[in-house]
Amino acid sequence: VHVRVLGSAAGGGFPQWNCGCANCRGVRAGTIDAVARTQESIAVSACGARWVVINASPEIRQQIEACPALHPRGPRHSPIAAIVLTNGDLDHCLGLLSLRESQPLVVYATDRVRRGFTEDNVLCRTLERFEGQLTWRPLPLGRAVAIDGVDGPTGVIVEAVAVPGKPPLHLARRLGAPDPEDNVGLRVGDVTDGALLAYVPGAAAVTDDVRAALADAACVFFDGTFWSDDELVRAGLGDRTAAAMAHVPVGGPDGSLDALAMLTAPTRLFTHLNNTQPLLRRDSEERAAVLARGWDVAADGMELVL
Ligand SMILES: [Zn+2]
Ligand SMILES: [Zn+2]
Repeated sequence: VHVRVLGSAAGGGFPQWNCGCANCRGVRAGTIDAVARTQESIAVSACGARWVVINASPEIRQQIEACPALHPRGPRHSPIAAIVLTNGDLDHCLGLLSLRESQPLVVYATDRVRRGFTEDNVLCRTLERFEGQLTWRPLPLGRAVAIDGVDGPTGVIVEAVAVPGKPPLHLARRLGAPDPEDNVGLRVGDVTDGALLAYVPGAAAVTDDVRAALADAACVFFDGTFWSDDELVRAGLGDRTAAAMAHVPVGGPDGSLDALAMLTAPTRLFTHLNNTQPLLRRDSEERAAVLARGWDVAADGMELVL
């Protein structure tokens, strides 16, 4: 499996347009040891020619331009064969609306995520200008599916696994209580070899099911939104905790670093980093702590082959 990291920041990106926290100010001014990041997304491919994009971030146009593998090979063409959504948060699906230049799209999502995006959304019509422009395909929980792209099989196989989460903020009132289909992690492989990528950009908790989904992967990407539960509160950026936003923090006694200590994957990366995350700074204690435990931090432009 070929992997390209298109984006590695949480919703809002790094720096975030309306944020003047120490990290955002520092990266703008060039006074901290950190690089800017676009919102979380990766592309995966079995053959290196046709790609499956996981999550469609609001920055997808810029992300495609930054990744030559995703550039057109003809007057009207895209190597993007299919898109898979891990949840319905806008930082994961708003980019679909930017792919509206009459290019056929195949999108895999759970029923709940598909309905959250399409119901009462008049803007969806921009992806329905002609028959067959947008094809939704189901993403069942706990069953591997061969990803069938715009022009046939991609060779990529994806199994969605329910991961604790919550409905997107803009649908919370309508959808009410969390549902297993709100948020998934993906186990990604290909038809030719056994190496497995586990991609979990959002997780409210590390459960036994989450651990089991990651255990046999050669490469793990995991939710690195926050280092601590009260990170936003302490930075004076509001009163919402990581728990309230359905993200398990990386650090601390209840953090994912300890909860995932059993993992043996040679490559383990935190992604979906909020702009307040101390891991963004290459010289932080927190970064040293994750490196010492065999983890690292995903960065835009990273390329991996499993
Ligand atoms: Zn997100
Ligand atoms: Zn900030």
